[in-house]
Amino acid sequence: MVKKSKPIKITDCMWIDLHRKLDCLTRQLIRIEDNLPNKPKRYLKFNECIPPTEVCRSVVSMMNGVENYDGFIGKLSEYYGCSIMGMYVSLEKVLALERQTGKSYVALYDPNLKVAYSKKKTVTHSSVLHEWFHHMHAQGVVSINVKDEEYYAIKYAEVFLQRANMI
Ligand SMILES: [Zn+2]
Repeated sequence: MVKKSKPIKITDCMWIDLHRKLDCLTRQLIRIEDNLPNKPKRYLKFNECIPPTEVCRSVVSMMNGVENYDGFIGKLSEYYGCSIMGMYVSLEKVLALERQTGKSYVALYDPNLKVAYSKKKTVTHSSVLHEWFHHMHAQGVVSINVKDEEYYAIKYAEVFLQRANMI
């Protein structure tokens, strides 16, 4: 004859113990995450998303006189812990958007491809940082009202360069 096994009754004492263990594991996990070199930054407020002076300076110094943007974009993605953004020259892409909207653009950002296109080979620091802001927003690094995105993208480039003592 098979003896029916009695269901386990979880006592209050056991629950308390389980909660304590779970709490302990959660704390350990937070400690591990806090020590990761590239802890991803997420849902930052606008005033929290500008890097400290030394990061701004180092990014801007990497931007000077280069035609290849990978270096400082890599630095920015490392700082924010988000994916990189491609940056290419494409007069056609910008002209297509201009025809579509009737406005004039220096560059544009495509969130699906995570790529920015600039009209000319030489783009200003502020244009690259502007497009980078759109990228950060699409990646969920910064949390702002979508309708204010353009305003904040302009502001981001301005404050970033000010902090790096560029303007
Ligand atoms: Zn923009």
